[in-house]
Amino acid sequence: MDREREIYHRLLRHYGPQHWWPADSPFEVIVGALLMQQTAWRNVAEAIRNLKEAGLLDVRALASASIPVIRKHVKVAGLYRTKPTRLRDFCRHLLARSGGDLRRYFDRPLEAVREDLLAQSGVGPETADSILLYAGGHATFVVDAYTIRIGRRIGLFDSDDYGDVQRHFDAHVPRDLGVFQEYHALLVAHAKALCRPAPRCEACPLQDPCDFGTVRVHG
Ligand code: SF4
Repeated sequence: MDREREIYHRLLRHYGPQHWWPADSPFEVIVGALLMQQTAWRNVAEAIRNLKEAGLLDVRALASASIPVIRKHVKVAGLYRTKPTRLRDFCRHLLARSGGDLRRYFDRPLEAVREDLLAQSGVGPETADSILLYAGGHATFVVDAYTIRIGRRIGLFDSDDYGDVQRHFDAHVPRDLGVFQEYHALLVAHAKALCRPAPRCEACPLQDPCDFGTVRVHG
């Protein structure tokens, strides 16, 4: 079995299904992904709660809301000068592109939607792929700093380039939406629990397939 598959199964056994992304709708996933930059998830969750309570967690409502009103509800997520504008402009784009119908928006080849997402302000590869994977139903591997840290320590690749790392997983993991969704979430859980900046290799379920862990624990 490829190491990439073995790692997935070991992480799944150790941590269990992560059920990520925690959201009630694809639109909520999009809003969360747009608010995620440079902040903790709990702040994003609070901003989403605020928008929900104000009746603003809706494409049309956000597209027509004023920036000060959006800012009031999402400022807890930081970058309060840019995030409200990005959020509103993104919703306006959804309206222009598909009348706000997310099924229609995502019902195109993966690369076409990805290109469209990347053309929006503040949307980089990680945000675009998160939206595609968790809101759009497109199987694309999400890469983040955790993925790179874990993958390099294990010895899967020796690159911190987004495209290189994504191509690596694409080549070694069966393209299955559920597996891709779970794999990213499991890597995040693992980076927070054990494969931290100071890793706890002695307690790690990936010790055997991990170059770093094998040397560290067995010498
Ligand atoms: S063995 Fe250590 S370095 Fe390797 S994945 Fe586990 S915690 Fe990270």
